[in-house]
Amino acid sequence: MTATTKTAPVLERRITKPSGDVLLEIEDLHIHFDTPRGIARVVDGTNLTLYRNEIFGIAGESGSGKTTLVEAILQIIRFPNRIATGSARFFPTEGESVDLMRLSKAEMRRFRWEQISYIPQGSMNSLNPVMRVGAQIADGMTAHGISQAEARRKIPTLLERVGLEPRVAHHYPHELSGGMKQRAIIAAAISMDPELVIADEPTTALDVNVQRVILETLAFLRQEFGIAILVVSHDLPVHAQLVDRIGVMYAGQIVEVGPIRPTVKTPLHPYTQGLMASIPAIGGERVRLSGIAGTTPSPLNWPEGCRFHTRCPHVMDICRRVEPIRATIQPGPRLVGNVEVTVTEGRSAACHLHPESTPGDQP
Ligand code: SF4
Repeated sequence: MTATTKTAPVLERRITKPSGDVLLEIEDLHIHFDTPRGIARVVDGTNLTLYRNEIFGIAGESGSGKTTLVEAILQIIRFPNRIATGSARFFPTEGESVDLMRLSKAEMRRFRWEQISYIPQGSMNSLNPVMRVGAQIADGMTAHGISQAEARRKIPTLLERVGLEPRVAHHYPHELSGGMKQRAIIAAAISMDPELVIADEPTTALDVNVQRVILETLAFLRQEFGIAILVVSHDLPVHAQLVDRIGVMYAGQIVEVGPIRPTVKTPLHPYTQGLMASIPAIGGERVRLSGIAGTTPSPLNWPEGCRFHTRCPHVMDICRRVEPIRATIQPGPRLVGNVEVTVTEGRSAACHLHPESTPGDQP
């Protein structure tokens, strides 16, 4: 047990809307995976800006690289993965910015809970069945230099923050419902008052009502305490209910970024259009589901040019030869394939249907 004079952090009320201040800047991140069949380029040139106090969603099919991306941010990638190049610069409210890719293991261990915390996929199953919930939350805090007494004092408040009664601290995990376990995990994740919480598939395996409660809890954390949240989910309706902006990931790259409403309503990238056509309408009108033809290509051998060209209904000759770059799309009306779209501010896409995406020296 660690006994120190460190004081348990108090959850501060911060700004409650996205501030426009950069919190995390990922630049040209490549994460390669050594396999017996060659190098798998699982994340391959990803760029992303996350702002203070915003909720940002990363969407995409299985195998698109979303989980590997957040594992890289947190430096929890295990051998034989390796980070090839790139940076992920974090700008704390106080102190100097740091490149997370350059922190030592010890530095990252401290940073991980105190500045950035993580709710991994299926985390409610990671609760120790023979330990009371409160003791498990306290363990995480004492590992970061908080005394047992301080940790115990803070636990009732933490549980109330996530909508649980303080007495839940004395319960064992098997006495809690799935939603209560997930909220206990969220309480642990905010126990050191981090600036960023990363949640990987936070609602998977939960029924619809419990999903709603978890999403409300995450939204409450941002609203009340200004915690930025990075949500990874394959589930677009989850993003539509929670996030401010969304990044759509395909084949190791983010191919479209924009505010959530216009992005799901009028996608600028054919892959996002395909994802939207794969789900019942958000809001209720669409009835015919068409999905996306084909399967995600292998990271051992991404296609030349646009990586989506083998599945894209709008493929052109240039798509097979030239890789589009993700560029800001100018506001105004335009056609995306055969769909008329009015582009609003703050949107970007990597697709030759938008001249902004085609490198300047290409015909
Ligand atoms: Fe489709 Fe071409 Fe756009 Fe790729 S670049 S998404 S293949 S239209």
